[in-house]
Amino acid sequence: MQAVKAVKQNYRPTEEILSLLEDFRCMVNDCVRIGLKENLTSMKSLSMKAYHQLSAYDAPTYYRLTAISRAAGILRNYRKELKRNRSARVPYVTRLSLTDCYGFRVIHRLVRLPVRKGEYVFIVLNDHTLRTMSGRTPRSLTLTANGLSICLSKETAEIEPVGAIGIDRNLDNVTTADSDGSILRHDLGRATEVKARSRETKRHFKRNDVRIRRVVYGKYGRIQRNRVAWLLHNVSASIVKRAKEKRFGIVMENIEGIRRLYRKGNGQGTTYRARLNSWSFYELQRQIEYKARWEGVPVSYVAARGTSVNCSICGSRTTKYPNGRRTLHCPRCDISIDRDVNAARNILAKGGVRFTPDGPPEVCTEAMKGNETTTPILRVDGGKVTPG
Ligand SMILES: [Zn+2]
Repeated sequence: MQAVKAVKQNYRPTEEILSLLEDFRCMVNDCVRIGLKENLTSMKSLSMKAYHQLSAYDAPTYYRLTAISRAAGILRNYRKELKRNRSARVPYVTRLSLTDCYGFRVIHRLVRLPVRKGEYVFIVLNDHTLRTMSGRTPRSLTLTANGLSICLSKETAEIEPVGAIGIDRNLDNVTTADSDGSILRHDLGRATEVKARSRETKRHFKRNDVRIRRVVYGKYGRIQRNRVAWLLHNVSASIVKRAKEKRFGIVMENIEGIRRLYRKGNGQGTTYRARLNSWSFYELQRQIEYKARWEGVPVSYVAARGTSVNCSICGSRTTKYPNGRRTLHCPRCDISIDRDVNAARNILAKGGVRFTPDGPPEVCTEAMKGNETTTPILRVDGGKVTPG
């Protein structure tokens, strides 16, 4: 299995690099224009039409292919957007960003990029980039006006899991249930807080000036994204690390279902929905998935249905305690169980891990291979589950 990962760093562009970036931007826009005129979106048909026209630029021919490929992607997105919105804006690239797969070389601490035939520019790589790159094959390089990102790949062998970790996301935490019985809660209250504060600031912004509003919104958006990203990276890294150490697979809820669960009109109110969506479970899943793939840890998804209300021991419907305690009561087993722990255990169970009375949990490794089991296999003895 091929696993990919990107490493990013900042750099100061020279005049030469800026002019190469500008050329690349124009090349992409030329291809987009050609594609729109001739109604082309495939890489192949676009190459046939555009490749020779791009010879007007004196940038090396490597860049023609990546410019065409970038344009093909933009055209595909535009076509998709048109289906939803008839008046979608005609795409035009304004941001400086270049991708290269064929021309660059990494030489010691430097990355060498061709700018014209036989002429090169060099960018110094920092220690972090070099450390991350060691022993990996650099696949492609993306350059913007101030950042450099190198995409790396390696061949990984997927581990044969001996257990699994079920992950449940909540308003302010992520709860994990391991098939060896351990429960962990990662606090994400700060991510929710950061976002709530930004929402407040935006709401109180009264001046009716589009330009100033854009600046203010942009600033809060940036601060918020950076803080939340940092928190999510820590959580995803620690979950994947634990999975690798225990040789466990990872089971998560299918995100498609989640958004639908919290859609408008189910009585939860906009603030609740905003808060729940705010720290971006999708981003956490994305991080867990690529980090897991990089380490050879298998990931599978299960339907979210019933995971939060059904008892993780017998599968029957639980009742809530009044006055909003985060505890559920199962009338059949006559036990109280923490809501988040219950949900995480249900996800784990749907992923094919069952608890057996008193013995160690059995694992059906078949179900870990990505296909989801729709009927929960729940055979946990009351003694194995302690209320959280
Ligand atoms: Zn029960």
